[in-house]
Amino acid sequence: MNLEIKDLINSNIKSLTPYEPGKPIEDLEREYGIKNAVKLASNESPLGPSPKVLKALEEVISGVHRYPDGNGFRLKKALSSKHSVDMSVLTLGNGSNDIIEFVARCFLSPKDNAIYSQYAFAVYPLIVQALGAEGIEIEAKDWSHDLQSMLDAINKDTKIIFIANPNNPTGTFIKKNEMIRFLEKVPTQVIVLLDQAYFDYSNYELEDVSSSLVEEFPNLIISRTFSKAYGLAGLRVGYSVSSSYIADFLNRVRQPFNVNSLALAAAEFALKDNEHLEKCLRINKDEKERLYKFFISNGYEYIESFANFISFDCKGNSHTVFKSLLPKGVIARSMEMYKMPNHLRVTIGLPEENAIFMESLSSLD
Ligand SMILES: *Cc1c(COP(=O)(O)O)cnc(C)c1O
Repeated sequence: MNLEIKDLINSNIKSLTPYEPGKPIEDLEREYGIKNAVKLASNESPLGPSPKVLKALEEVISGVHRYPDGNGFRLKKALSSKHSVDMSVLTLGNGSNDIIEFVARCFLSPKDNAIYSQYAFAVYPLIVQALGAEGIEIEAKDWSHDLQSMLDAINKDTKIIFIANPNNPTGTFIKKNEMIRFLEKVPTQVIVLLDQAYFDYSNYELEDVSSSLVEEFPNLIISRTFSKAYGLAGLRVGYSVSSSYIADFLNRVRQPFNVNSLALAAAEFALKDNEHLEKCLRINKDEKERLYKFFISNGYEYIESFANFISFDCKGNSHTVFKSLLPKGVIARSMEMYKMPNHLRVTIGLPEENAIFMESLSSLD
């Protein structure tokens, strides 16, 4: 590489490790010459989008020569009625990853720090490092957030605490009362980004904190996504609920047309199909129980999950196990990069997909 260009790269960016996505099905099928591979690696909905979404997309697609609505009026209107909040508290993102980035860019400068847990979503440390801020990683407790230690780590330079609830990659969940007690103790000059990407799954089982909490806690930002339970990962749409004061700033760092017109319409129509969402949650619940039973009867230790995936001790190096599952047409996710070298994370799929996963895993022994 040309030495001069190399020297031009911002040093925070130079040392970044790229985010490693789940292996795409097409890659696997091409590499191994197989068909009907099962991808259980990225916590996508196995059901796919609602039929109502597909129908709406057919209509919108003929209008793609126009820029999307930069304010996302219709989607925000639908979200404001879903959450019973004013439209001014909403910010739309190109996936909720976009929201994570807006929050970091709004609040973090070099020399500031952000706190996250040992087993946290990989995007948090990446964005903190890219901005030249310091990431403070707090040791996990029983695979979950150690909220007291996170509070103890706050210092004068702390600007953000990242918490995913349920957490990825562990699936652990902080109950509503405990979360509220934590929020009460966080100084108001520290932002809490509560990432509820898996909210729908958790709320199915236990009451999660709701978006109305942002009225009580002006330093709280809640992010949600359409990528998981709503089955729209490929379209990239997420949002946040915060005070309107914060939302105003998030919207200033947002690019004018960050959410495309197909995504806007798909999300709007996904919200109208509660039946489809319920179906997705029901399958997840039933199949989770089935996978738990399989793990128990085969002597695998798993972490109880409140999301649509399960991380389990695969009794060996998870990258090796991940690789051995590939020729059998199963894509899971090694948690080696999350510093859980013996844990494999499997997304809960459709009954037939989970059957292939269980059969393939059993055949490795
Ligand atoms: C999947 C996931 C997201 C969602 O990302 P999108 O950009 O909305 O697709 C956010 N946070 C966590 C913890 C996730 O696992």
